[in-house]
Amino acid sequence: MEKFFHDEVVKCANNLLNVPMNEMSVTIITPECPLCFEGGTITVNADQWQKYANGSALVQDAFPDMTPDDREMLISGTHASCWEVLWIDEEES
Ligand SMILES: [Zn+2]
Repeated sequence: MEKFFHDEVVKCANNLLNVPMNEMSVTIITPECPLCFEGGTITVNADQWQKYANGSALVQDAFPDMTPDDREMLISGTHASCWEVLWIDEEES
């Protein structure tokens, strides 16, 4: 009996994981990167994006799991790889 319940729980968890990504996430077009002048896209959780987009949460509160690199790209469009190039240039000069 106990095992039956356990299997059911696992099955439910798997079903949640199998929800198509496009129903839970949105792809945002980021601003033009000030360093390479190219735009980009970033895929975020739809609920989190809604909170951020309607102004009810700051970016760090709306996307607590987002890496600082992705956050920077979302806000300013600056690519992480472009930041690296910038820092290397400054160190050399
Ligand atoms: Zn760039």
